[in-house]
Amino acid sequence: MLEIRNLNVFYDQVHVLKDVSLRLEKGSCLTLLGANGAGKSTLINAICGLIGPASGSIVFAGREISRLPAYRIVGLGIAQVPEGRQVFANMTVRDNLRLGAYARLSKEGKKDIQADLEKVFDMFPRLRERKNQLSGTLSGGEQQMLALGRAIMSHPKLILLDEPSLGLAPLVVSYIFEMISRLRQEGGISILMVEQNARAALRIANRGCVLETGRITMEGLSSELINNPELQKAFLGGSRA
Ligand code: ATP
Repeated sequence: MLEIRNLNVFYDQVHVLKDVSLRLEKGSCLTLLGANGAGKSTLINAICGLIGPASGSIVFAGREISRLPAYRIVGLGIAQVPEGRQVFANMTVRDNLRLGAYARLSKEGKKDIQADLEKVFDMFPRLRERKNQLSGTLSGGEQQMLALGRAIMSHPKLILLDEPSLGLAPLVVSYIFEMISRLRQEGGISILMVEQNARAALRIANRGCVLETGRITMEGLSSELINNPELQKAFLGGSRA
């Protein structure tokens, strides 16, 4: 579904992603771990077309996308849930969700979009209760639900999540992770997730990889990584999962 080969990204002279290669199978979940500044968000932004790579390729559903503009990439079925959610604070919950379907508006009728809105509200009843509320006044957890719902509205085949648990209370994190798991299992959506909460992320992912100063240094099944002593020391507080 997604295959990245030898991707190199620079910010001016600074080489941020160095020969990064990774694969994500259809309907699977891959979690990307790494210290602050390792280049995780840069990788997500490169896949979405927000940063142009210097070299390498990104193939999505059999198509080279590394030089396509972001709006075309959304149209092909890749949705991003950015770090810090980035909902439109002065718009209502319902309007934020409708915006997620923007790329489909010209092709499909309003009726389909209304039906999808109901599906998102069924998945996140909290959003239905708050559909007329300004999004900037939602709690952090509700904003994360909204950002996920907005991504779902674009009918994605792949969702890129950048630190979905950031700043959320443990109970809310469990709920959000359960929803991400459901999207993959029931919706068949592939997930690439950057996460600091390595333990929770590896529990719902099939595979994981570690990015260190721009290079992939470890890659494997989540069940293996979670028991890897090196990874435990770096990301799991040294204890066994
Ligand atoms: P974090 O976990 O802290 O979010 P990250 O792994 O997502 O970190 P990136 O945000 O991808 O890391 O940043 C990788 C490196 O690129 C960092 O050294 C950062 O300072 C640098 N960087 C990121 N964005 C830019 C930019 N727009 N211009 C110049 N340098 C940048």
